Amino acid sequence: MRYGSILNEPEKESKSRVSRKSYALDSLAVMPGICILSIDTELAWGMNAADLPRFCKVLDEEPEIIRRLIRLLDTYRIPATWAVVGRLLTAPADRRHGGRTPGRWYHAPDLLEWITGARIRHEIGTHTFGHIYAHDASTTRTVWKRDLEAACRTGRQHGIIVRSIVYPRNQVAYVDTLDDFGIVAYRGVERNWYGNRRGAVHILDRAVGTPAPTYDLNALREGDRLVNLPASQFLLGDNGIRKLIPPSSRIRQARLGLDRAADRGELYHLWFHPFNLGTGDRMFHTLEHVLRDISERRDRGELLVMTMAETADLILEGANGFVPAERRQ
Ligand SMILES: [Zn+2]
Repeated sequence: MRYGSILNEPEKESKSRVSRKSYALDSLAVMPGICILSIDTELAWGMNAADLPRFCKVLDEEPEIIRRLIRLLDTYRIPATWAVVGRLLTAPADRRHGGRTPGRWYHAPDLLEWITGARIRHEIGTHTFGHIYAHDASTTRTVWKRDLEAACRTGRQHGIIVRSIVYPRNQVAYVDTLDDFGIVAYRGVERNWYGNRRGAVHILDRAVGTPAPTYDLNALREGDRLVNLPASQFLLGDNGIRKLIPPSSRIRQARLGLDRAADRGELYHLWFHPFNLGTGDRMFHTLEHVLRDISERRDRGELLVMTMAETADLILEGANGFVPAERRQ
């Protein structure tokens, strides 16, 4: 296989990766919090045709944004779960055969090399094969399973074993099918005070910088083989009206969420798309601030920074490490 099994490369830096053998969680009176970063990687697959003209510049620059992001994650030794749209990894189809143009907005053949070439070991999960919406009437169970099959097959062709999924538009459904594909973790919907209403109230929440929700690790398991790792915070971009929200609000929201995750031993889960970082420096500086905060807490032993699949393994393999709260001192 081209990349080997990237989940099992021993030579990769693994400082921030928790080895269940080396990290004796059951010896801790209080478990540290867990921090997850997931990155929805889709280029233009999630965009409506009408929105494309507004995003031309950022789409053209997205390969460079992704490479810059990988370097930043290396600097702070933060592993991420890259939820990749499967079709990004396929060869562009001819327009006459339904291929979308320009090809560079829909295909990124070098993407995996960039991610696996990083010093830190990342996870590559799926964001479905065709960025399909599970709540659409046209996405029947059969359509859904066929898509996931294609996503996992494409992964295998590149030496990747898909173990985590991020649902496009966070439309969670068909959760009972995930185990058939070896998927152990999905990113559930953020459980916030405003019930995920979109628009003004969401922007207001980000402007005020209310604490990002965090989650009790004991409540995330769904049966014996699946874990729901809900989102805590979407790192809002700064395009359009969002520009009015100062970076400090996003940073504050993260800091308060991280505080609580560390204090209570809970999960804090940050996510965004590479294109949310935009083409300038402002969002990168905001993200760097948050990553520095995360890495300092990790270095102080307050937080574990893990991928989605690692977190699921830790929770599911309870007997080997994870200690449910009721059994802790
Ligand atoms: Zn998406």
